[in-house]
Amino acid sequence: MSASISYEFFPPRSLDASFKLWDTVNALQHTAPDFVSVTYGAGGTTRELTHEAVETIGKRTGLDVAAHLTCVDASREETLSIADRYADAGVSHIVALRGDPPKGAGQFTARPDGFQSSVELIEALAETGKFDLSVGAYPETHPDAVDPKGNVEWLKRKIDAGASRAITQFFFDADHFFRFRDDCADAGITAPILPGILPVQSWRGVKRFASACGTTIPTHLANAFETAERDGRTELLATAVATQLCTKLLDQDVDHLHFYTLNDPKLTRDVVHALGLAPEAALENVA
Ligand code: FAD
Repeated sequence: MSASISYEFFPPRSLDASFKLWDTVNALQHTAPDFVSVTYGAGGTTRELTHEAVETIGKRTGLDVAAHLTCVDASREETLSIADRYADAGVSHIVALRGDPPKGAGQFTARPDGFQSSVELIEALAETGKFDLSVGAYPETHPDAVDPKGNVEWLKRKIDAGASRAITQFFFDADHFFRFRDDCADAGITAPILPGILPVQSWRGVKRFASACGTTIPTHLANAFETAERDGRTELLATAVATQLCTKLLDQDVDHLHFYTLNDPKLTRDVVHALGLAPEAALENVA
């Protein structure tokens, strides 16, 4: 099996969290990811932290680091000046998103002087000619989508606006991804669609997150995790589940896996090693 990989991190908000992020980067960089990315806090809350994390990881590791950027709570001018700062710092890969409002603020509402949608943001960033752009995609249909067809058509608009690839929301059933990939191909989308893999670190957290973003949890998986939690075997099960999901994807010609690490390297590293995707040298770095 061969495939390239990438990792998502989030920016740290405390000294302890900074150490965790750094440990995660160190543990995973030996697996030779194609790129890594750093999220932008909901509601635009981590602007400076994201910037600092992107720059520091890039400078210290030489990895290709993508910066997430959203339209939330910023004027067009502010958003483009953040992008400009990235370009000046040599960061050329941006994950361009509409974003979600801060907790409890309900639906996304664009600022009158801000980008009204992800498509507008992508168009403006593409126009600068400075960035390689990734966007989000939703195999199980985004909760704001009118229907699955509209969900795919909107992704097509984002790609046509200048994005080079899409990274999906996490899912547990490979068939959802395959169906979505087929629908995208039928709609004329030729850009790569990278599946987002979430190794389950906290079952309770995943249940909450899945319900918010519309990811289906198969009954057999829910039962298995409830039992594993009771018996203190969640990590083992999580590694097996993520490895099996990735194997199904790789068997059907998926050639890139994007891991949501949640700034904890253990499960992701085990899955990448179990799949045989890390270079030999990486195995020497298993702590
Ligand atoms: P869009 O794709 O623009 O919109 C979401 C859906 O709404 C679309 O699929 C479409 O069906 C529908 N829609 C929206 N506008 C229209 C329209 N005008 N006409 C028709 N349909 C429309 N959030 C953060 O806050 N920070 C992050 O760093 C972050 N990183 C992410 C990374 C990835 C890979 C993914 C998949 C998501 C990430 N998110 C992040 C979450 C994301 O911000 C939310 O899912 C948000 O609700 C949608 O953002 P988007 O850019 O994908 O939206």
